[in-house]
Amino acid sequence: MEILNLSKEDLENVLLEHHFERYRVRQIIKWIYSRLIYSFDKMTDLSKDHRIKLQDLFSITPLKTPVIVSSADGTEKMVFELDDGCEVESVIIPDQNRITVCVSTQVGCPLKCSFCKTGTIGFKRDLSVREITGQILKASEYLSSKEKRITNIVYMGMGEPLLNFDATVKSIKLLVDDDGLNFSNRKITVSTVGIADKMVPLGELTGVNLAISLHAVTDEKRLKIMGVNGKYPISEILEAAIKYPAHHRKKVLIEYVMLKGFNDSLQDAKMLLKIARKINAKVNLIPFNTFEGALFESTERDDILKFQKLLMNGNITTTIRKSKGEHEFAACGQLGRVS
Ligand code: SAH
Repeated sequence: MEILNLSKEDLENVLLEHHFERYRVRQIIKWIYSRLIYSFDKMTDLSKDHRIKLQDLFSITPLKTPVIVSSADGTEKMVFELDDGCEVESVIIPDQNRITVCVSTQVGCPLKCSFCKTGTIGFKRDLSVREITGQILKASEYLSSKEKRITNIVYMGMGEPLLNFDATVKSIKLLVDDDGLNFSNRKITVSTVGIADKMVPLGELTGVNLAISLHAVTDEKRLKIMGVNGKYPISEILEAAIKYPAHHRKKVLIEYVMLKGFNDSLQDAKMLLKIARKINAKVNLIPFNTFEGALFESTERDDILKFQKLLMNGNITTTIRKSKGEHEFAACGQLGRVS
């Protein structure tokens, strides 16, 4: 059994079954996730007998060290080769005094949104808990060698986190555990296309911040670029957003990619304003990042600013996402090598 795929509760259950004291689970989680020790031999507060028993019960296999591709703006893309040869990518994004790590939850993506490169490579498989937390552990290891540390985590890499719900939730729980990476759930954001029936459960189980990739303000328009809207129409997504439990403490974020001539008119902005008010959200406008074969162009900067102004005049906090890593294809919507 691979210990890195177990949540704390899973591990506790196995340990109790094998007659370990309950508190041992905390010691083991601490060794792995806060000290980054991947060998039972080195867990010196456990007796020799315990260590041998653990070795018999579990394997402990960290991810292979990723290849790191640096971009001129400081963004670094980590490319992981997984055990079965699949590749997955994460991005380290430094910005002023923050270092955000953007993690993937699936190899490829089943959703095929027409403006996103990851969709064009198709869907291979879900990532395991080990493969999700492993991206953070490797980023953490890499950054600590430069005396830096992760301040924020966003589930905005390849794949749809809420279609890999269990592994996503288990990974978050390990990240926020006092004995684990000890992150605050306020520093973690999960982005979803709006898998409406999984949104509230995510909030209840983890309390993380929620971001919704909306990108269009009517079902008709949204369906043209996001097939998933057929299953989860905008009204259902908004209803789930209103019920989202972290809602009162922190606003839900609406992500809106700016596609020239498609969703960037002032009429679109007015409707977006209404939506943002209805669910008490803030808005992040994302200039479209291009890739080979892309069907769209980004809205011009001036028009993005006008769109932003309309929302701001309506008292909606609206930011424009800085494009990071685009030269190394590490920016939003550009993840996924064609292999
Ligand atoms: N599946 C989830 C998690 C991925 S987040 C989701 O869609 O929310 C990746 C973000 O980048 C999403 O908001 C996505 O819509 C956006 N994106 C995708 N392609 C893009 C592109 N070409 N340019 C800019 N942003 C893009």
